[in-house]
Amino acid sequence: MDEKIKSIDHVKTRVISCKLCNLCRDRINAVPGFGNLNSKILFVGEAPGKNEDINGLPFIGNAGKILDDALKKGGIKRSDVYVTNVVKCRPPNNRVPEISEVLTCFQYLKQEIQIISPNFICILGATALQSVLNLKEVGRYHGKVITRDDLKFFITYHPAATIYNNKLKNVFFKEIASLINMMKT
Ligand code: URA
Ligand code: SF4
Repeated sequence: MDEKIKSIDHVKTRVISCKLCNLCRDRINAVPGFGNLNSKILFVGEAPGKNEDINGLPFIGNAGKILDDALKKGGIKRSDVYVTNVVKCRPPNNRVPEISEVLTCFQYLKQEIQIISPNFICILGATALQSVLNLKEVGRYHGKVITRDDLKFFITYHPAATIYNNKLKNVFFKEIASLINMMKT
């Protein structure tokens, strides 16, 4: 079997049965990342929501639909990319994950990044920005590329933040399109 498939399956298996933090208590399903293992972009959201918890797949609710629209406008499809979250289990009532939960779950994100080895890691929103890069204020960093440890991070809004804000949604669409363009060059 392809090495990448084998390695990502190993991560998935560990995530699905993981009980390393308290978020395992209320989950229906843990939600490992999902998508194209050869993707040049790896998207990182915050945490699974209700639909994701029920189905065990990331970004399949309203936020996922906006992400899909953005990818489509940029000329690619969801099945072209890999999508994951900072924590793999749904926090009760969709509260923001706690620092201890983020730190405990981080090993899985690290492994996903190592295996996929993307050209860009796309940070979706404040929780991912804080958790992955230790930076605050998406408003300050959105649309920008930051390089750390030889990895390139592209920062943009969380699609859920754009649901009732068309102006922000257009910014999000534009930024995803520019990321896709950078990926092609
Ligand atoms: N929001 C996220 O951050 N991740 C998901 O998987 C779904 C909604
Ligand atoms: Fe394990 Fe992460 Fe789920 Fe916590 S959130 S139980 S660390 S998979």
